[in-house]
Amino acid sequence: MEPSAPVTQDVLTIPRKLPEGPVNLVGLTREGMRATLIAAGTPEKQARMRVTQIWQWIYQKGVRDFDAMTNLAKAYRAELAERFVIEVPEVVSRHISEDGTRKYLVRIAGGHEVETVYIPEEGRGTLCISSQVGCTLTCSFCHTGTQKLVRNLTAGEIVGQVMIARDDLGEWPEPGRAPKDETRLLSNIVLMGMGEPLYNFEAVRDAMKIAMDGEGISLSRRRITLSTSGVVPEIARTAEEIGCMLAVSFHATTDEVRDRLVPINKKWNIATLLDALRDYPRLSNSERITFEYVMLKGINDSDEDARRLVNLIRGIPAKINLIPFNEWPGAPYERSDEARIRAFADIVYKAGYASPIRTPRGEDIMAACGQLKSATERARKSRAEIAAEVARG
Ligand code: SAH
Ligand code: SF4
Repeated sequence: MEPSAPVTQDVLTIPRKLPEGPVNLVGLTREGMRATLIAAGTPEKQARMRVTQIWQWIYQKGVRDFDAMTNLAKAYRAELAERFVIEVPEVVSRHISEDGTRKYLVRIAGGHEVETVYIPEEGRGTLCISSQVGCTLTCSFCHTGTQKLVRNLTAGEIVGQVMIARDDLGEWPEPGRAPKDETRLLSNIVLMGMGEPLYNFEAVRDAMKIAMDGEGISLSRRRITLSTSGVVPEIARTAEEIGCMLAVSFHATTDEVRDRLVPINKKWNIATLLDALRDYPRLSNSERITFEYVMLKGINDSDEDARRLVNLIRGIPAKINLIPFNEWPGAPYERSDEARIRAFADIVYKAGYASPIRTPRGEDIMAACGQLKSATERARKSRAEIAAEVARG
């Protein structure tokens, strides 16, 4: 057969034509916004400047209306308003816990829902954001794992959760009066809500780049922690392309137990995961990795487990975060007793690792770690279905 004629590849990054309907500017990277403005008729020479101006209005001042962008010409503002929108997901409900934790039920395009949780603490405030509706993984102790993946969130929907929280906290500073990190209500982000962030890499990366951009939300990369169940091939890329802090859902000290708790372990086992983690601090220039360890009664909480844990991670700069299991209706595990958790923490501490026991927050509103689950009825999966899937591997 004759080889077909060579195809000339179109290498232009600038879209020639915008899609039908208004385009949302939230979630575009700076480069993406520049290309989009040019495609809509902004002269190329001006585009970079316009991006900076619009960017500051959106991410520094919290403005959603082009008409308020007073350093842009009136006619240009009208043009922008015709083609673009500045949209964040809709907050369907907000629950406030006795301890001040706020849980937002957030509706994204298509009517699906995710949860975002704000946790105020002494001198800081952490926003726990979701990266997917549901999760493809089926960790047996996690409520989100009982829900099928519905879809990945877009970068705009991910950074939009930060903007929603800032709206609610009233934290859009007056021009020139950006609060310092120490005094911010929303000072830290953890990607520990619904979903596996490393299975939605590009959107998470772009959203976090926006959150870190010094001319906007301006959070330091050290104040952003991405939690993964152990998607090994994406770990080095996380260091190189995002450079944030890393937390890993470790939860067990033998492959046999980890296979049951975190089934992704069957694909990338403990030894493979530890190899990837060993390189992370150097690649990302961060000090240490957080090992998350959920305390499940009689499953992974013995003294022997604690000793095995410290032996496994020897040589990796680490902090071990012990999470008392948060129960949810129908959960197949129980939380370890307090004395057991303390004994475990003591062994870890004596081996030279910080071993804070995480205080469950917002339990009364089902906002604690691992309790999140959207109400999307048709996405529900029964425990029996999950057990069958785990058994099939
Ligand atoms: N998918 C990512 C991030 C979301 S889960 C991950 O698995 O790392 C955030 C953290 O909550 C993980 O460490 C997870 O293992 C933990 N978690 C899940 N369910 C929990 C529960 N019921 N109680 C306590 N921690 C839980
Ligand atoms: Fe998904 Fe993380 Fe829950 Fe596992 S613990 S099912 S990876 S959200």
